[in-house]
Amino acid sequence: MRVAAIIVAAGRGSRANPSGGAAVQPKQYAQVGGRAVIAHAIEAFDRHVAITDLIVVIHPDDAAHCADACPPSSKLATPVFGGSTRQGSVLAGLEALTGRLAANDLVLIHDAARPFVDGETISAVIAALSTSQGAVAASPVADTLKQASGSLIVTATIDRAGLWRAQTPQGFHFKSILDAHRLAAEQGLHDFTDDSAIAEWAGLQVKLVLGSEGNTKITTPEDIAMADLRFARGTSTMETRTATGFDVHKFADGDHVWLGGVKIPHSARLDGHSDADVALHALTDALLGTIGDGDIGQHFPPSDPQWKGAASILFLKDAARRVSERGGKIINVDVTILAEAPKVGPHREAMQATIGEALGLTAGRIGIKATTTESLGFTGRREGIAAMATATVQLPSTDAS
Ligand code: MG
Repeated sequence: MRVAAIIVAAGRGSRANPSGGAAVQPKQYAQVGGRAVIAHAIEAFDRHVAITDLIVVIHPDDAAHCADACPPSSKLATPVFGGSTRQGSVLAGLEALTGRLAANDLVLIHDAARPFVDGETISAVIAALSTSQGAVAASPVADTLKQASGSLIVTATIDRAGLWRAQTPQGFHFKSILDAHRLAAEQGLHDFTDDSAIAEWAGLQVKLVLGSEGNTKITTPEDIAMADLRFARGTSTMETRTATGFDVHKFADGDHVWLGGVKIPHSARLDGHSDADVALHALTDALLGTIGDGDIGQHFPPSDPQWKGAASILFLKDAARRVSERGGKIINVDVTILAEAPKVGPHREAMQATIGEALGLTAGRIGIKATTTESLGFTGRREGIAAMATATVQLPSTDAS
């Protein structure tokens, strides 16, 4: 399944210009923490392991701004030009994805002016789409709400129970939100202020997920100064971490083994509670090690019947999600398999493809190596297979945990 993100950046941002007229430089291209606001937003989605496609919708006058500001990413498509309203811009982004996404793929729509979106929020929106047609990051209203007359005399106090502030990202199943947007445009309705409102109008069920209070939108010059301060406190500095993993499984009667996510015919199987993919287990532990988040046995206990026979690629994806949610990006992984047989070489590319899809990595960042142990030890006696792995990730250096 593909998960695309549309970054909406076609607004002119006149509210962030002190003179109130057309902004010289739209707010999404303002520098905060040493780079453009939009660059922070793009990177948050680029880093997230579940996101497969990224597209930016820009104003036709901003092509040069975007070329300067938008960071390189293998997920990023050529920018598309937006319309005169936010709604029209989102529709342009959705139309540009029609060749890439299937009906049930997911799309997350995000405002470029929210540079503080975190991996946890992106994960929560995606997770909610397994049970709902739409999902919106939101936070409960904390302030008391007043209604006032034109002369600012309070006329009422609004009950804030059940009131939420909608943020982005807002996620949907691709075809349902594309159809809703097309229908709204056909009917001449252009004034919806977010994509949830269009989904609600089209009769889709939309679920709120608790977003981060820090996921604020940059609207005014004060917001730009405040965002710059927040980034200056260090959240934009990345550090590199490396960790290792090791695993062993013994042979039992059978006719195939799972290694590196690939089913390989063999004269025995590997014994274990899951599919006993010793290579993926070592790799999963290496990834968990980079964030100090326990080990595979802690998150998927062998005593839990739901993991009986489970495909170990699930464990690897879960570890990658945990790295993403800490704002991390996986740089490379490396696996060494210790076995007399089966031969790994003929399956290396298939392993790289499977692991690459799970971790969002190209084959050049995935080492798959094998060695015999010269007939020595338990692997040499063909009693089982061992595997060791390393993983290297980049994480925000302010992450104290
Ligand atoms: Mg194991």
